[in-house]
Formats: sequence, C-alpha cells, structure tokens
Amino acid sequence: MRTVADVDVDGRRVLVRVDFNVPLEDGRVADDARIEAALPTLRDLHGRGARLTLASHLGRPKDREPELSMRPVAERLEELLGAPVALAPGVVGPEVEATQAGLEPGVALMLENVRYEPGETGNDPELARALARLADVYVDDAFGAAHRAHASTEGVAHHVEVAVAGYLLAREVETLTRLLEAPQRPLVAVLGGAKVTDKIGVIDRFLETADAILIGGAMCFPFLRAQGHETGASLCAEEDRDPARRALEAAEGSACRLELPVDLTIADAFDAGARRRDLDGVDVPEGWMGLDVGPRTVERYADEVAAAGTVFWNGPMGAFELERFAAGTRALAEAMARAPGVTVVGGGDSAAAVRRFGVAERMTHVSTGGGAALELIEGRTLPGLEALR
Ligand code: ADP
Ligand code: MG
Repeated sequence: MRTVADVDVDGRRVLVRVDFNVPLEDGRVADDARIEAALPTLRDLHGRGARLTLASHLGRPKDREPELSMRPVAERLEELLGAPVALAPGVVGPEVEATQAGLEPGVALMLENVRYEPGETGNDPELARALARLADVYVDDAFGAAHRAHASTEGVAHHVEVAVAGYLLAREVETLTRLLEAPQRPLVAVLGGAKVTDKIGVIDRFLETADAILIGGAMCFPFLRAQGHETGASLCAEEDRDPARRALEAAEGSACRLELPVDLTIADAFDAGARRRDLDGVDVPEGWMGLDVGPRTVERYADEVAAAGTVFWNGPMGAFELERFAAGTRALAEAMARAPGVTVVGGGDSAAAVRRFGVAERMTHVSTGGGAALELIEGRTLPGLEALR
C-alpha cells in the first residue's frame, strides 16, 4: 500500500481526510484520542513542507448546525500539532480556495465539517471535484470512515493525481490483515457487546480462521437461547436467534471452538441502582437480565487470552458503563494487558473500555475504526481503500 512516505510533498497542497469525529462537551473536545492518532501523518507532512488542508466529518449535521463546526477541533489540533491551524469558511468553493491560497507557509487549514455539504454522504461527484481543487496530493488517514463511499473518502481520490494512505490507515490495514492472514497462533477472538446482527459476519469469518471464539456481553443471549436456555429479560433480539443458531451449527464442523459464558451477573433492570446478583449458570430467571459475565467465565476467558498467540477483542463483556457490571470487561482488559501475545482491540465501546481501565497503552493495537475494522475482518472491500493508488 502506497503511503505518504512515498510522495514528495514539499510546497504542495496536501488534502488529508482525517477522522476527527470526536466527542464534544460544552463546545470543547472531550476526548482527543482520534486527533492524537492522526498526528504521526500530520507532523511528518508538516515537517516536510506540505501545505496542509484537513477534512473530517463531525457528528451527523442535518443542516449547518454551528454546534457541529470544526472550530473546537481546529483549536485542539493547533495545540497538539504545535503549528497554527486556520478554520476555513466552509467545506469547498471560491471562498475556501481563496483562504487556502492566502495562507502563510506552515499554517494548516481545517475545512468545515464535510457533512455540512449534502453531497458528502451521497458521494456527489461535484463535491468530490470541488474538494479535489484544493489538493495536489490526497491522503486518506481516516480508517474510521474507510468503509463508507463518501465524497471526502472515496470520491475525491478519483480526481486527484496522487492518492495515498496516511500512516494510521496503513497501520490499521496491516495489523488487521496480518491478524487474518498470518496470525501468531492460537488466534483467539473475543466477541461481545450488543450489536449481534452487525457482528454475525465477523463470527462466520473467525469460525474459518480462529482457534477459539469467546462470546460475552449481550451477544451471548441469542446463542444461549438457541441452546435452549432461559434468557429472562436479557437483551436478545428475535432477529439474532437464527444467525446464532447457524453459527453454533457451523462451529460443530469447524476446527474453531465457540465458547459461551458459564455464569452471569444478573440484575432486575439496566440501571446503576438495580438489584443485582451472581448466577452460577446461565438460565436467567424471569424478570432478570444478564448484564455481565460471571467470575468463572472471566477466569476461563483470561486463561485463553494468556495462552493465545494473538487476541482480537470486539465488544464489552457487560454493561461496563455501570460500575457494578464492569467487572467482566475490566478483568478481560487486564488479562489482555498481561498477555504475552499480540493484542488487538476494535470497536468504539471496546476501545473506550481499555482506555477507561488504563490499559490502552499495553495493547499491541487499538483500532480507531469500529465498523471499518469489522468489515475488513469480514473480508469486505473498503471503498476508501480501493480508491487509493
Ligand atoms: P463496540 O462499540 O466495541 O463495537 P458494541 O457497540 O457492540 O461494542 O456494544 C457496546 C455496548 O454493549 C455497551 O454500551 C454495553 O453496555 C452493551 N452491553 C454489553 N453487554 C451487555 C448486556 N449483557 N446487556 C446489555 N447491554 C450490554
Ligand atoms: Mg458501540
């Protein structure tokens, strides 16, 4: 994969698509992990004399809501990059082009929220061409958006002579590709969280490539139900039961073990103040819901993680946002931090969990793209990547 390292950028206008879709609080950036993640690319380009223009989306604006302006992001970037960052008066158009042309060397330009333009999500070729007018070189470093064919991720790449990957995007793709094609074995996939329907394709792929799949979080309930257990009031969508049953069947004839929880922590409501108790087993009584995996499950999963050559983790083991149901997720995060093998974390909430439990630095790789990482693992092509050359 061609990266920025292969391109001469001195004095050239370099448009970098970054994923600065960060959480805001009171008009300020509440978590700058995504800005940090793009810094290696931006510092390298800046240091080599590139005239930087940055593009990102932020939230889901319906119109040009000022609350979703890139201004606070530009301000935070200026501090982190240690160089001045100007905010453009829009996304594209003559005024933006004039602003770009008038910038002193060394000043980076942050375009406004690309989703202020209605053509962004529809991959409008007009918008793609207007973005391309701002660029001699296009760099895609937005792994978190690479699974979407939008004007600023896919469209624009077709209209700029040079379109390459940034370091973050390249590292994401290399790490995940190696995990699938040449992992250190045993390869263990830990899958949890809530979006079972979204993740079933990942289970199918890991049944073919992994040595073990460990299921936790709300993901376990369609499987337990398919095995004939009672799931009570646990999160267990009707539409997820068939896929779970099929995955169990596929696991029968596969070399991959599919492990389910053997005990749970249950509660009478999804609430910090709910009644809570440990259940030795997995038959959830009526009126109760499983909100975390139990201690015996945690121990088994931690042993698997310790013995793995590679661990991929997506999806929390429980409702970890509530401290009383965080034990399973915390223990798994800590087991991964101690593990001698390669450890890769994907998924927005899973990444938030390893940061919250203070172990993000001890992982081999924490992916910045939830959906994109899963689609890559499923074996789908990411339109953002296809457009690079
Ligand atoms: P990721 O963002 O890492 O891909 P998901 O979005 O799939 O993960 O799932 C994260 C969510 O799953 C969290 O908000 C967590 O509260 C929820 N969750 C995990 N286990 C349970 C459970 N047993 N019951 C209800 N919600 C759960
Ligand atoms: Mg999530």
